[in-house]
Amino acid sequence: MPLARETKIYKTFMVSISLTIIAVLSGIFFITTIRTRQLIDEENIIQARTLFNSIIWARKWNANHGGVYVEKKKGDKPNHYLDKAEIKTIDGKVFIRRNPAQMTREISEYAEKEGLFKFHLTSLNLLNPANKPDDFEARALSLFEKGTKETSYTENKDGITYFRYMAPLYTEKECLQCHSNQGYKLGDVRGGISITFDIENIRSKLGINNIYTIIFGLLSTSFLLGLIFLFTARLIKKTSEIQQRFEYLAVTDGLTGIFNRRHIMSRFNEEFERARRLKKNLGCIMIDVDKFKSINDEFGHLVGDEVLRETSIRIKNVIRIYDILGRYGGEEFLIVLPDADFDNTKSLAERIRENVKADIFLATDMPLHIHITISSGIARMTDVDNSIDDIIKRADKRLYKAKSSGRDRVEWL
Ligand code: GH3
Ligand code: MG
Ligand code: MG
Repeated sequence: MPLARETKIYKTFMVSISLTIIAVLSGIFFITTIRTRQLIDEENIIQARTLFNSIIWARKWNANHGGVYVEKKKGDKPNHYLDKAEIKTIDGKVFIRRNPAQMTREISEYAEKEGLFKFHLTSLNLLNPANKPDDFEARALSLFEKGTKETSYTENKDGITYFRYMAPLYTEKECLQCHSNQGYKLGDVRGGISITFDIENIRSKLGINNIYTIIFGLLSTSFLLGLIFLFTARLIKKTSEIQQRFEYLAVTDGLTGIFNRRHIMSRFNEEFERARRLKKNLGCIMIDVDKFKSINDEFGHLVGDEVLRETSIRIKNVIRIYDILGRYGGEEFLIVLPDADFDNTKSLAERIRENVKADIFLATDMPLHIHITISSGIARMTDVDNSIDDIIKRADKRLYKAKSSGRDRVEWL
């Protein structure tokens, strides 16, 4: 189980990495989408320019010829704005005159019928009221008068997206043949031709493309985050296991598994401060195994080690859950007893002595029954104690007394 500190680091790391990945992927998505749209718009402008130039050249051709005559078919109407709008040949055929404006209109009608594009010839200064500019065209024409060379716009009409483009028509020599009475001079902006075509198809494909990109983006982000979550969780788990192991090793005595000397002393200091502050009792028991050297000598060090382990277990089985047991030295143990008064400490020390005293049975190469005893000195915190050393000194003195008084006993005076 990771500790609270690790969990917090893990959460902070996960939140920042998730936000970074989401921000980077969203950024890539938005830049790509905007760039794709720009490219499509650029392509639309190129297409519109090509159409515009085609019609301009067709109009030039027409104007150079001073208008052209086409055979009149059923439904064709002569253009009465023009001179000699209709002529009849000597063999009786009727021809009507088509100027650039009407030719533009008619080409536009053909193209529109095929669903391709639409031209619209318009001007702020109209000859023919049918050529009135719409809003986009009126705005474009005003811009042209200020020097703008072309303009484009995306328009949504009845749920369909149209691309609109417009460029100016400048007054040229041929134009003046018919338009001089409108007050135009050579090079003046005389009006403009707008081109409109349907871009719904590419727009909806772009929309679908965006949906796929979003879905793919979300899936890959989740997958990526999932992997990072997994690996980080594993890493944190491993790290905290290692850390816990280190923490355990730092406070534990390798042989017996109880606290080592450094840790029991530090806990004793904490309890000393706490008992002082809260005016509570604090007891301690110093234990030394009797004649331990002879066990080593008789059975060897490995057996001696086993005896020490077993002794620590026996002590542990007697003490209260909040008592602190540590290995103070070779075969010496120290117990710190928070909230224990003199009598509690004494009776606990007696019970420990009794509990350790039973024969120790060791299943080594050869089954062994070893008889051990312990001696203890006990002390409790008093008002004159300046540090735990004062308490330990008293407990030590009493332990020495227990040894000199015959061992296997508890001393408190
Ligand atoms: P007393 O009753 O006076 O305490 O006699 P004692 O033999 O227990 O006293 P002493 O302090 O002379 O001997 C303690 C022995 O404990 C000496 C040492 O070799 C042994 N010892 C210390 N640490 C260990 C250990 O980790 N393992 C083993 N097997 N023996 C140890
Ligand atoms: Mg000893
Ligand atoms: Mg000793």
